[in-house]
Amino acid sequence: MRLSDRITHINGGGSDGWGVFYRARAMKAAGTNVTELTIGEHDIPTSPDILTAMHRAALAGHTGYASVPGIPALRDAVAARVQARTGVSTTRDNVLITAGGQAALFAAHHAVCDPGDRALFMDPYYATYPGTIRANGAVPVPVLTAPADGFQPRAEAIAALASRARSLLINSPNNPTGVVYSDDTLAGIARVVQDHDMWLISDEVYDTQVWHGSHLSPRALPGMAERTLVVGSMSKSHAMTGSRLGWIIGPQPAIAHLIDLATNTNYGVPGYIQDAGLFALNQGPATEEGIAAPFRRRRALALDILSRQNILHAVPPEGAMYLMLDIRPTGLSGEDFAYRLLDAHHIAVMPGESFGQAAAGHIRIAMTIPDAPFAAALEQLVAFATELTIPA
Ligand code: PLP
Repeated sequence: MRLSDRITHINGGGSDGWGVFYRARAMKAAGTNVTELTIGEHDIPTSPDILTAMHRAALAGHTGYASVPGIPALRDAVAARVQARTGVSTTRDNVLITAGGQAALFAAHHAVCDPGDRALFMDPYYATYPGTIRANGAVPVPVLTAPADGFQPRAEAIAALASRARSLLINSPNNPTGVVYSDDTLAGIARVVQDHDMWLISDEVYDTQVWHGSHLSPRALPGMAERTLVVGSMSKSHAMTGSRLGWIIGPQPAIAHLIDLATNTNYGVPGYIQDAGLFALNQGPATEEGIAAPFRRRRALALDILSRQNILHAVPPEGAMYLMLDIRPTGLSGEDFAYRLLDAHHIAVMPGESFGQAAAGHIRIAMTIPDAPFAAALEQLVAFATELTIPA
């Protein structure tokens, strides 16, 4: 039986660029000791305190249908947190609780794009972006950033593709590059989306992992609150990836329609998960900094190791749990480098090519294993790149 184009085209055809990852997983399954620096998952589980709160909530009976937009206390807590962090007046009517940031990304595009609409997103990009847009029947249009610009988006590049586009999806701090958009970049983005009457979808799931200064949300810029949907999540900030808890912040009329979408899709997020999320948020910023601390530490370790060589250039990692390295001096593509590193040293990294065209010739290193093996793997990676670059 025929399936819809919308669902059969989600992956857009072609390779998904995750071959290295699958090979590493197969090697592990066959008993090889592989150092995996691939996916964005903490090396700690969700804290026992949060799990206790979840357990208590479930035992207290919060196991029935929960309020579809989110339980009021959690919507209030998210609104208060966003208001405190951005200065933008935010109430529960601006908040929809979702099953993680991914569901929020899907719902945000569903809310603003009609089938066939052009939906822009920045390249390099988080792996699901084009599929999320296609799953909504919209047309994904990548806007390339350049290594020479440190992968900061250029307003002119966005404007050049903005004609008839309905939305622009941005992500700062960025996965995969670790780049944090500068104030100038965000001001340029705000100008373009206003000039072209577009929605901005701002994926801020790494907003607690900023290594200098504080996170700037474009929703706080003049004229932006009414055209911005912010995607948030507890996955990265509270090591709660498996709990599937996130949100969309946006103008009240948009949230009202998004609640209709939630009613007709997930029908809300489990109440005991939301109670645990509320407990976690109430632990405050020190807890969030504690979760981010290992990545801050490993970034410093990595920059120290890299400062002792001059072959591999790190894209300035100003946030998130990743480090993007320019491996072009080795003469290999990111994919060839990653396969050869995996085969020679059993270290798995993601080729830049997995994240679009703009990061070709780069590799992404997830800083998600303990400090000592992380530093050892990076030393080995640098030695491998040096061997490749300087023939014996
Ligand atoms: N956005 C970005 C940039 C991500 O890296 C991820 C996960 O890695 C997500 C969204 C989705 O996160 P979740 O659905 O776990 O909240």
